[in-house]
Amino acid sequence: MASLRDIRATFLDYFGTNGHEIVPSSPLVPQDDPTLLFVNAGMVPFKNVFTGKERRPYTCATSSQKCVRAGGKHNDLDNVGYTARHHTFFEMLGNFSFGDYFKEKAIHHAWELVTKEYGLAADRLLVTVYSEDEEARVLWRKIAGLSDDRIISISTSDNFWSMGDTGPCGPCSEIFFDHGADIPGGPPGSPDEDGDRFIEIWNLVFMQYEQLSPDERVNLPKPSIDTGMGLERIAAILQGKHNNYEIDLFANLIRAGESVLGVKAEGTALASHRVIADHLRSTCFLMADGVSPSNEGRGYVLRRIMRRAMRHAHLLGATEPVMWKLVEALKVEMGEAYPELVQAQPMLEDTLRMEEERFQTTLGRGLGLLEEATAGLSSGAVLPGDTAFKLYDTYGFPLDLTQDALRAKGMTVDEAGFETAMDKQRSDARASKFSSGQAAPAEVWFAVRDKAGASKFLGYDGEEGRGKL
Ligand code: ATP
Ligand code: MG
Ligand code: MG
Ligand code: MG
Repeated sequence: MASLRDIRATFLDYFGTNGHEIVPSSPLVPQDDPTLLFVNAGMVPFKNVFTGKERRPYTCATSSQKCVRAGGKHNDLDNVGYTARHHTFFEMLGNFSFGDYFKEKAIHHAWELVTKEYGLAADRLLVTVYSEDEEARVLWRKIAGLSDDRIISISTSDNFWSMGDTGPCGPCSEIFFDHGADIPGGPPGSPDEDGDRFIEIWNLVFMQYEQLSPDERVNLPKPSIDTGMGLERIAAILQGKHNNYEIDLFANLIRAGESVLGVKAEGTALASHRVIADHLRSTCFLMADGVSPSNEGRGYVLRRIMRRAMRHAHLLGATEPVMWKLVEALKVEMGEAYPELVQAQPMLEDTLRMEEERFQTTLGRGLGLLEEATAGLSSGAVLPGDTAFKLYDTYGFPLDLTQDALRAKGMTVDEAGFETAMDKQRSDARASKFSSGQAAPAEVWFAVRDKAGASKFLGYDGEEGRGKL
């Protein structure tokens, strides 16, 4: 069976042999880019090379980049545990041409790698092209010998990539693998395309224009290539699995979870085990790259992911911290490729244990409150925003955790009501600041409340809170 390590190496070696510089993964926290939460694609570390702001001693590169999609424009958090193909943390294999080769060579390389190096059967593959990109259709026909019904035209932004409102942009072409007729789901572009039968494995972006303003677009003098293939998705195919969570890496992490929790990953426990394994990876990789749990920004996204995993562990019966016990299994699986995990292991274990201990003091009671609030309600009901806010404010439940908890019951949260309650809290905090003459801004209030623990901190007027200030 092909290991992740071999699959990754095959990709990098193929492009290395074909004139690409093999570039190591950048950290997950983008360097010099405050607008982006986390690196979410292989091209991110090369952004300035594409725009011409930065020069490198090579014009073609290849990498296996650590990516997190758990917030911002790409947020796959809600997909985890429910689709066969999404993680919050994954590795994106990519090849890049900075004004060097273009469409024809990119398609040639992709087809050769997928069908020859990886040996996928051509009749299981489909591609999409942007509806206005006739050139790509012609090239797929010529290079891959695909018949027209296997080259699907898509007219939505799914097949037109742009870096932002202005800047480089262009059509893309996605390669899909057909996992077989016994799996529900339709081909790309069809009404049931979201099923798990046809899975996108590789996205080729043809950067050929520059958007100067909303209505002015010019041809780039030197068009470029940016591609991304999910390592776990290609691994699933090469290991004969139809679900990313069944590849060896996840099977081993889930086995470790089963033994720590004493619950088999089957029936209703399956999704929770998958969520735990996925979130273990994203939280550990984020912390190894310097993110610490906190109440704002990147640290809050990290804490939200952790707490979601902890709720799932609780669902499986955990009464004491368990996530930290899984770090060792993650290290065994990924430490060789990512030595930062090995180095960070003690810190990862300590932080996870502390975070889980702390959250467990309120988790059970919060879930009790949620039970009460939804007793007697049926599927389709909407939880009042006030209740969701109380769970957030008193029990430390991030909004998305409450939403995740309600999902199994088919219920949602009144998000606008939640925001209103949050705003009211903030303005009350501000008002009390004026009346008490305290100079601390609301942010400090939240930070202190957080330090003291949501259930203990009583606000400006509570002795405990005052003591901490
Ligand atoms: P999908 O439509 O399946 O959500 P995408 O079009 O959002 O994927 P791209 O932005 O094109 O994904 O990323 C390039 C490749 O990275 C995808 O073709 C896929 O193989 C992989 N990928 C994207 N998102 C994820 C994810 N959340 N988990 C695992 N692999 C992913
Ligand atoms: Mg996506
Ligand atoms: Mg897609
Ligand atoms: Mg895509």
